[in-house]
Amino acid sequence: MTKPSEFYFPCPRTITYCTQCANPLARIIPPDDNRVRDVCLQCGAVHYQNPRNVVGIVPIWENKILLCKRAIEPRANTWTLPAGFMELKESTSEGALREADEEAGIAGVELGQLFTLIDVPNAGQVHIYYLAKVTDPALNPGPESLEAAYFDFDAIPWDNLSFRTVSSTIEHFLADHQRGQFDIHYYSLNENL
Ligand SMILES: [Zn+2]
Repeated sequence: MTKPSEFYFPCPRTITYCTQCANPLARIIPPDDNRVRDVCLQCGAVHYQNPRNVVGIVPIWENKILLCKRAIEPRANTWTLPAGFMELKESTSEGALREADEEAGIAGVELGQLFTLIDVPNAGQVHIYYLAKVTDPALNPGPESLEAAYFDFDAIPWDNLSFRTVSSTIEHFLADHQRGQFDIHYYSLNENL
């Protein structure tokens, strides 16, 4: 098999062949179901598709917020909070810390409270951010980041943030920091990520 010139994430997430028996799939409403699925008429496997979780942290170091500049699409060259797709067999908080390690390589960080829970139905995603306290600010960004840097609260690069989920989470952080109380914020965004 030859290697493709570039690897990518299919969007929309179409499945053409059965993951169990490799036969072509049909798009039908299975018995006792109420929506169209990718179904294998050979072996009966139903390929359910469900929203994906994006998990991340809001890392704070001495009244500065840590952001990473994305090295990869979508939105390469924009600043983001450390976050990424949750993996199987990990918790949301484990995933958030793993992503922070992969993208920023923070030397020391303590997970704080759940902070934003954001439905993004158009993208088939749920984004979850935890507050986090940086205890050792040394950084070692991974290949998904061009750089990682701490920003003063009044110097956030608002015009060059990656996603509405990121900018709205930072907005909630600054507002809660201003009033001295951090809540859990649950909301929905109509965004195509
Ligand atoms: Zn099959």
